[in-house]
Parts: sequence; structure tokens; C-alpha cells
Amino acid sequence: MSTAHGDVETPAFMPVGTQGAVKAVAHRDLEAIGAEILLCNTYHLYLRPGDELIARRGGLHRFIGWSKPILTDSGGYQVFSLAARRTIDEEGARFQSHLDGSRHLLTPEKAADIQANLGSDVAMVLDECLAHPSDHDTARASMERTLRWAHRARERFLALKSSVVDRQSSVTNHQSPTLTNPGQAQFGIVQGSVFRDLREESAQRTVEIGFEAYAIGGLSVGEPVDTMYDVVERTTPCLPADRPRYLMGTGTPEDLVESIARGIDLFDCVLPTRNARNGQLFTSEGRINIKNARYAEDDRPPDPSCGCYTCRTCSRAYLRHLFASGEINAATLNTLHNLHFYLDTLRRIRESLAFGRFEKFRLSFHQSLSRQLHDP
Ligand SMILES: [Zn+2]
Repeated sequence: MSTAHGDVETPAFMPVGTQGAVKAVAHRDLEAIGAEILLCNTYHLYLRPGDELIARRGGLHRFIGWSKPILTDSGGYQVFSLAARRTIDEEGARFQSHLDGSRHLLTPEKAADIQANLGSDVAMVLDECLAHPSDHDTARASMERTLRWAHRARERFLALKSSVVDRQSSVTNHQSPTLTNPGQAQFGIVQGSVFRDLREESAQRTVEIGFEAYAIGGLSVGEPVDTMYDVVERTTPCLPADRPRYLMGTGTPEDLVESIARGIDLFDCVLPTRNARNGQLFTSEGRINIKNARYAEDDRPPDPSCGCYTCRTCSRAYLRHLFASGEINAATLNTLHNLHFYLDTLRRIRESLAFGRFEKFRLSFHQSLSRQLHDP
């Protein structure tokens, strides 16, 4: 995947840098473990410190000191998660800030404007995130709205590109955005809940609008894992093979392997970083909870087959002690390991694909995990 800030080898995993930083780790460490692209959250950066402030600093890359690619989400997912603090209508999503209760309106145009100010390499369209489970009629209505919003988002994006947005016509009272990254791309999002017909139709009609690439949204929201794999399998053939296909907000290492087998190129998920802060480590033999008493005198590294800084220098006993003591280093060391495990898994997958050995990799990956530790 080529972006204005360089190339990304795919399939790729994007660590989540919600506030412009991946929690507990420095950019230097992310680069050292081979992170090629970060995901940052539009909702959070819009509310604080504000996209206009970031535009005045020259855009997100310069502001946070990260020179490689950045993808920003549309902010929609966080807004939809506010439940009681938001209402949705055709215009967009009205919500109250979780920080100070201030009222905001996020429209497809506004989401494009905010991301123009941020200057990410990939901007996402605002889509309607549907709760699971939903019936077919509800899912269709939501899919249709997402398509109407996609048209509006694309129109705004193209208008910004050709700099024809009139300050006076701004629908949001928002001053005209600065295009801090003229090379920004915009991805469309396929919706349609768990219904195959809706997913196929959503994919076809989103592709008709014409985006630089496409994402599959609305999965990993509580549906059975086999349903998710099935939706992915049915959707990817409807998306252009020469463009990255991005599965949003997924998932476990097993999900990554199985989704790549079904044609996915790009992932993001908070699992490796959030679970690290809770003391859960992903390893080649399954997950371990470092807080368990059984590790109190365990001198082995978290994952004997991992080459990360944490595994080279720390024992399980030491990591357990740090976690139990509430030492902030615990979050850093655990996060470094988990992200290294994810990025290294993707690296091995890319290698296996290049040599035509992916199926072999897939098999041995699952075999190794099926021998996994039974760690409560
Ligand atoms: Zn490690």
C-alpha cells in the first residue's frame, strides 16, 4: 500500500494510537518493532486538542513526530458508542463530549473536514455503526444511510482536494479546513450487518462511488466468529483485488490469520495494547495472564520463541512483580511484547505468502495455538 508518507507492506497490522500515541510506548519503540502505520482516533483528537490546533502545527505527522503513514477513523465508532449521549438522523450524529458535555454534530462532511485538518494518509468515511443483532430491515435501512453518507463524504473529500470549499457554505459553522496532506486517500466502508445479500450489495454500491480503497465495518461487534469469517469471505470478492481491503477493529491473532486467508490486507485492534495493560500476553503458545500466582517464580521469558526486548530481558516472575506492584513499566514491557507478537506474526505471514507457503503457515499456527496453555 503506497501512501503520501511511504509504503506499507501488506497484510499489515496498525497499532492504535488513540490520542496520537500508542499507550505506554514511544514512537521510537514502535519503529524498532517494525510498525509501519498507526491508527489515530478522529473523535478524540477533534475534542482534544482539536483538529484546527493540529492543522496549525502542520498536521498530525508533525504534531506527534511520526513520519510514517497514519490512518484516521471517522470518529463515528466512538460517537455511536456514546449510546445515551448521542442521537442519529439523516444529517449526522449529534453527541455530547465525554470530556465536558459540550454538544457537537458529526456529519459525513465534518468527518472529512476534521481528517483534512489532521492530514492523515488515509481518511475513513463516516458510516452508521449498527448494534448486533439487528434484523434485516433495520440493517438495510442503515446500509442505505451509510451509502448516502458515503456519497456526501466523497463529494466533500473531492471538493477539499480541488479547494473549492467555500468558507460561507460550510454546513457546520466550522472554519474551512486546511488540507494539511494533499496526498490523503479516502476509504469507503462496507456495512450490512451479518446479511450476505446486504454485504454484497453494500460492497458493489460503495465501489461504484469510487474510493482509493475499501474497508469492512460493523464486524467484531458480538457476532459469532464463524459468522464474521463468513461475512468476510463473501465480501472480499466484491472488492477490487488491486486495492487494500481493511477489516476494521479486528481481532485476535487467529482472526488475523483467518481473515488474511479470506483476502484481508489491513487490520487494527486495541486487543494487543489494551490486554497488555491488563496483564494479558499473546504468545506463540496462547495467552498468558502474567498476574497469575503460578508465574511468581517462573524464570522463563513470556514467550520463549519471541525475540522482542521484553522477552530478551524479562522473566515472567519479574513481569508479574511489576504488574502486581502497579509499576508503569509493566504496561510498557507488556505492550512492547504484544505488539511485537502481532507485527511479527504479520511479518511471517507476508513471508509465507511470498514463498507460496501460507497454507502451511496457517496450519502450523493453529496447531501451535491448539496446544495452548490453559491460563484462566
Ligand atoms: Zn516478546
